[in-house]
Amino acid sequence: MDIVGDLFGSGKMFLPQVVKSARVMKQAVAHLVPYIEAEKKRSGDMRPRGKIVLATVKGDVHDIGKNIVAVVLQCNNYEVINLGVMVPAQKILDTAHEQKADLIGLSGLITPSLEEMAHVAREMQRQAFTIPLLIGGATTSRVHTAVKIMPSYSGSTVYVPDASRSVSVCQGLLSGQRDYTDSIRADYDRIRAQHLVKKGQALVSLERARKNAFRADWTGYAPPRPAALGRQFLRSVDLAEIARYIDWSPLFQTWDLAGSYPKILDDPKVGEAARGVLKDARAMLERVIAEHWLTANGVVGLYPAASNGDDIEIYMDEKRSNIAMVWHQLRQQAEKEADRANLCLADFVAPRDSGVADWIGAFAVTAGIGLEERVHAFEVRHDDYSAIMLKALADRLAEAFAELMHERVRRELWGYAPDERLANEDLIAEKYRGIRPAPGYPSCPEHTEKGPLFGLLGAPEVGISLTESYAMLPAASVCGFYFSHPQARYFAVGKIAKDQVADYARRKSLSLEEAERWLAPALAYDR
Ligand code: SAH
Repeated sequence: MDIVGDLFGSGKMFLPQVVKSARVMKQAVAHLVPYIEAEKKRSGDMRPRGKIVLATVKGDVHDIGKNIVAVVLQCNNYEVINLGVMVPAQKILDTAHEQKADLIGLSGLITPSLEEMAHVAREMQRQAFTIPLLIGGATTSRVHTAVKIMPSYSGSTVYVPDASRSVSVCQGLLSGQRDYTDSIRADYDRIRAQHLVKKGQALVSLERARKNAFRADWTGYAPPRPAALGRQFLRSVDLAEIARYIDWSPLFQTWDLAGSYPKILDDPKVGEAARGVLKDARAMLERVIAEHWLTANGVVGLYPAASNGDDIEIYMDEKRSNIAMVWHQLRQQAEKEADRANLCLADFVAPRDSGVADWIGAFAVTAGIGLEERVHAFEVRHDDYSAIMLKALADRLAEAFAELMHERVRRELWGYAPDERLANEDLIAEKYRGIRPAPGYPSCPEHTEKGPLFGLLGAPEVGISLTESYAMLPAASVCGFYFSHPQARYFAVGKIAKDQVADYARRKSLSLEEAERWLAPALAYDR
């Protein structure tokens, strides 16, 4: 099995091909199991290079990257125990213990998972583990691993940026060579020291940041009133219609192919692999549509709203006396140049005391209903490539569904841009008026706000729910809010100071400790 691993390592083969070839090997291996077992007993040569327990941590549901890592490691003769998603710390540790694993690998996508990973590391220390810990997934980073995880655990702790790197990291860690672990430790110590220096970066007080808010001119502007107020439920939306809105670029990222669509198809290095992936994805998409493999459901709602300081109040009806939901916002606290505002999403909604009526929208959509069953069918046939491709396609369809609904909102349901006609690449480039910020993303990085959002929309009625870390289930789901103001834009809240955390805790009726836990990645100070 190492032949593919070597081709891969030397850059002669790309990830999609590696995963694709794994099927042939696994099916062959399945037939050969009795012979291999006998051979193992006889020689000992076939022993795997090491045993790794892989898991997406508690509260998180994303596993495409982790499953790719699993296949790549298997292709390189590692024994992988893949525990799946939403795995509690103790289950990971018990499995590692029982199976005498050589390594543990944790994965996660959303920021609350960063805290959960740190918890697993602390538990490994407490329970006297010494095996290396691998950290991977979209919001993880070398800095986070060095600063937040490594200090809790005395065993080796390594960040793995992508699947292609997983083999060399495991090899290094299991080689028994002190050089490798020592150089990682030195590297991460340096990163931690640099991070501490950077932390000194100037933040202004919350009070000063609020004084420097973005002030739209509400006197010369009338916010548009939605044509269709209230909720609309959408069930079994036509997948062929949704597919017209697909943005293909992220599919290539999933497979570790760098570049954006369509340019990537002609890339001298990865073009051929990219064309192969797209061809396979399109062929599968045709079957998904024709054979109704997936069901797309969603809900959108348009409501009267007003800002109240840094909060956005969403009202039950146009009397504006009963609040249906308060959406709590965070404000940038970085020191700004003279003509730059300290932004907060609440700045884009007319203030309650301005006397100007304004509105806001909200949505939750999924394309992941029915997915698990189909993925399972591929997995039992050892067809990891198709299983992973289908998950990636469902993600693409969910994002495309969000794009389609946003367009319908602008043109019809809210109706402030009835004449808008944009090509898909212009939609992807966000050339329209308004934004659809998503909780957990940089303008509104705190995930618990999805709780009230789901309550407002009744998202569970169309089959979308939340985990304890506020990840959406099915994983192929998207939610967010709609803003119509022409100057509304995305930004990053960035680091925030304790005065804002205390204020946020008070507004949300949380203890300071709870607020700090949910805001952990945004804190400019040590807890
Ligand atoms: N075409 C992409 C769309 C998703 S990424 C795809 O198919 O994957 C862009 C989306 O991420 C936006 O529509 C918005 O919902 C969210 N987003 C991006 N930047 C954001 C920010 N700074 N704050 C909040 N949400 C953001």
